[in-house]
Amino acid sequence: MRYHIWTVGCQMNKADSQKLAAGLDRLGWSQVARPEEADLVVLNTCSVRDHAEQRAVSKLGTLKKLRGRGKELKIAVMGCLVGLKTDELRRRFPYVDAFARPQQFEPIMEVAGYEDLGGEFWPTTFAVPEGPTAYVPIIHGCDKFCTYCIVPYRRGRERSRTIDDIRMEVAHLAARACAEQGRRGVREVTLLGQTVEAYGHDLPPDPATGRPPDLADLLRALHDIEGIERLRFLTSYPKDMTERIIDAVAELPKVCKYFNIPVQSGDNAVLTRMRRGYTIEEYLEKVDLIRRRVPDVAITTDVIVGFCGETEEEFRRTYELVERLEFDKVHVAAYSPRPGTIAYRKLADDVPHEVKMARLHAIEQLEAQISARINSRLLGREVEVLVEGQGKKVGAVRELPPQTGRTRQNKLVHFVGDAAVGQLATVRIERTSPWSLVGTATT
Ligand code: SF4
Repeated sequence: MRYHIWTVGCQMNKADSQKLAAGLDRLGWSQVARPEEADLVVLNTCSVRDHAEQRAVSKLGTLKKLRGRGKELKIAVMGCLVGLKTDELRRRFPYVDAFARPQQFEPIMEVAGYEDLGGEFWPTTFAVPEGPTAYVPIIHGCDKFCTYCIVPYRRGRERSRTIDDIRMEVAHLAARACAEQGRRGVREVTLLGQTVEAYGHDLPPDPATGRPPDLADLLRALHDIEGIERLRFLTSYPKDMTERIIDAVAELPKVCKYFNIPVQSGDNAVLTRMRRGYTIEEYLEKVDLIRRRVPDVAITTDVIVGFCGETEEEFRRTYELVERLEFDKVHVAAYSPRPGTIAYRKLADDVPHEVKMARLHAIEQLEAQISARINSRLLGREVEVLVEGQGKKVGAVRELPPQTGRTRQNKLVHFVGDAAVGQLATVRIERTSPWSLVGTATT
């Protein structure tokens, strides 16, 4: 039997799709590139933006037509489009055979013909990585309920996996490709959570310490796994970031000195309307602590412009914050209301589209100057790069060198060299831009 999985959205979704694929492969199914060739099509959806939701709905229309042409096809929808109640979805899309929430693979497996796979099936099924890097979810869901965000309604409350489970998966990732494909296993693992520093708070206390484990404990527990060279984690929630976690990042050599800490706005009144749960003063304290304790750290952030009621003055504070903190990168988005959220129900989306766009471009331009300045400091220096790709794009993209990889600070590097994918190369930087670095391998 053959299956096709279509995935949009965040790394969590990609990790879910890879795990589902690994489960179906384990049962003897094979993956195909086109839905026309499949017996089962799974759409793994995202609801964070309206556009992503519309793409899933349009895909469903195409699949309906495919089945209308007489093709025997099972259709399943999983991911953030599927909330706690599926009645409305079932009414809207009666031809869909299964709806499954994130990480809830059972309804899909039932449609595929497997009623009960046993409690050990999923914990011992591991996603197959595509290269030397892999994403490993460690905590699912979110308890924060920011007013603009649909995630807590679709992904449920925070649920942490145990350290033993995660360790088993990371050890497997590090080892599997060596044995099965005669090449190196995964070298870099990114631990995933919507609020990754919340990890562990819902787990039972560890008898040795009398408290539940936290992200610092997990990083220490994964640090000695053979073959793993780098550990990262995403995405940080400022209020959950503790000194223990910051110190673990500073002390553990394999943990990359990199934080993505969304600030969303530089203005306290906007943060209150967003219900982010921290003030700008608290955010600044965390960034200051990180920069004092972790030398050479790279910090990136996320910003939303044009949130409900955002005045010029409030936006100016965000602009000044970005200017002052000199982030390595800023992911900026214009606010767009999502049905089902508190902001959608209670706050007016009253910033005109053109104002949102002007603010977005202002932040983008500012950040391009800042990133250019930060990256230019690396000119002439040697950096460690984990080789992720090579060969395919010789001369195709702005005459960039063929090999690509990332530094520990997560900066993209294009370089000339002959290192194998999965190796760590030392690269001398010869050119920089706001978006990437260019150089030549010296080892
Ligand atoms: S912390 Fe806020 S923005 Fe992030 S997933 Fe949770 S509710 Fe959404």
